[in-house]
Amino acid sequence: MVETRLIDGKAFAEGLRARIADEVTEFKARTAVTPGLAVVLVGEDPASAVYVRNKGKQTVEAGMASIEHKLAASASQDEVLALVRQLNADPAVHGILVQLPLPAHIDAQAVLATIDPAKDVDGFHVVNAGRLAVGLDALVPCTPLGCILLLKHNLGSLAGLEAVVVGRSNIVGKPLAQLLLREDCTVTIAHSRTRDLPEVCRRADILIGAVGRPEMIRGAWIKPGATVIDVGINRVAKPDGGTRLVGDVAFEEAQGVAGAITPVPGGVGPMTIACLLQNTLTAAKRQVAGGA
Ligand code: NDP
Repeated sequence: MVETRLIDGKAFAEGLRARIADEVTEFKARTAVTPGLAVVLVGEDPASAVYVRNKGKQTVEAGMASIEHKLAASASQDEVLALVRQLNADPAVHGILVQLPLPAHIDAQAVLATIDPAKDVDGFHVVNAGRLAVGLDALVPCTPLGCILLLKHNLGSLAGLEAVVVGRSNIVGKPLAQLLLREDCTVTIAHSRTRDLPEVCRRADILIGAVGRPEMIRGAWIKPGATVIDVGINRVAKPDGGTRLVGDVAFEEAQGVAGAITPVPGGVGPMTIACLLQNTLTAAKRQVAGGA
């Protein structure tokens, strides 16, 4: 029986945010520029409103400027595109984030494609995805970046390790696979059409759940001693009528099998905003002369 360590993403993210705040102080003193993050929220989705509020709060706490633009759910695609172009041209804005999902009548790909790749702190623009794929400097999606930081902190070098990423979305699975490849892992990307998923997962020294299905990855699918990163955030009903958050991995079953695992909540989740702040500072450094 393996003793399973908990990977405390909340504590790691707090430390990362403190280091970013120190760097921001130094950057402001050197350049007289305050890094600015603009967040665009279209519509009234309650979960998105909470995310945007938290992003704004943590941006200000890190010493950066938070610029929030709220548009009505009825805003037209042209209005959203015009706002993005205005932010592209604004020298006080170094990072632009358009909160997803957008209302159905707006073409999210067209909006993402309009963001200046140099200000694309979510890393979703095809230019940044392409730069990551060919090994050039890129702004990298925040959640995958957070996973890599946690892995390197816990394992040191990842070179030569077998990594299995379950999920192939453009925002988590694919960029995370690219980042693991950059760290010299041997990477398998699994998805809904993968044959014998349990067997594929059992190969993994690093197992990533990025599926969005509550506790789908079972304890018996985990190689003893493997490091498990659970990206999933799923709200499930409790017997008392309330709800609770669970990941994509059956957390209790993983105890005694995994070498280490991220909890949900408190694992990958807090890393996402910390990495957004990191990307905003990186973008500001690249845009401001002498900022690097
Ligand atoms: P998507 O729905 O975009 O992608 C899910 C992926 O899982 C798809 O590639 C899909 O395969 C695969 N999949 C679905 N069912 C199965 C199955 N039965 N077996 C194997 N693979 C399967 O989700 P996201 O990538 O956006 O998000 C994944 C999870 O991560 C969600 O729970 C989300 O809430 C969470 N998340 C957490 C974040 C954080 O900050 N911690 C940030 C972003 C997401 P296929 O392509 O074949 O359909």
